[in-house]
Amino acid sequence: MRILVVEDETTMAESLRTGLTKEGFAVDVASDGAEGLWFAGEVDYDAIILDLMLPKINGFKVCSTLRERGDWTPILMLTAKDGQLDEAEGLDTGADDYLTKPFSFVVLLARLRALLRRPGRERPTELRAGNLCLDPAAHEVRRGDTVVAVTNREFSILEVLLSRKGDAVSKADILEHVWDFDFDGGPNIVEVYVRSLRKKIDEPFGVESIVTVRGAGYRIDDPDEANP
Ligand code: CA
Repeated sequence: MRILVVEDETTMAESLRTGLTKEGFAVDVASDGAEGLWFAGEVDYDAIILDLMLPKINGFKVCSTLRERGDWTPILMLTAKDGQLDEAEGLDTGADDYLTKPFSFVVLLARLRALLRRPGRERPTELRAGNLCLDPAAHEVRRGDTVVAVTNREFSILEVLLSRKGDAVSKADILEHVWDFDFDGGPNIVEVYVRSLRKKIDEPFGVESIVTVRGAGYRIDDPDEANP
């Protein structure tokens, strides 16, 4: 088992290296975020112990960059005791677990072993309809090889339609999935966004993948799965 430790405090880094080596792990130490990203790109680690506050690139950014690269190595995030960490934010960027400093080595070891036993996290599946592809991990929409820039809301609408490909999705359903529940506008706002989506993902490519279903809403069709 090979572990990457990304930690700028030398004493902490060295004690982790010593402790983990004694437990039979192979350990590499990176002393800032940029170096950590470099190591992670070069070596296939079984887990990464990642400090939050790091020079050059902080732990959150290291974590989200790895996930954007499609690297789903389990990450144990180390955070400072004064609560800089918003736990939810740490987990949102793709960390698998977190540990607040100061911690005992025994606890760290237990958490690390638990992470290593977990089945590997899968990269979220790409959603497709023909050559239209939505990649949730990279937060990217592509038509063929062309990356199409969409807003967060357009992205979410497309995600709903693609996840229910071939079925009509009502405006009310889209509204419920995409807008905050305190949104007090009507479902017609959805039309505005769908129109704008079509201008981005369909019209420039001469296709019509988002179909209006009268009285029912919208449906996205897969041209590869011919409709009767
Ligand atoms: Ca630090």
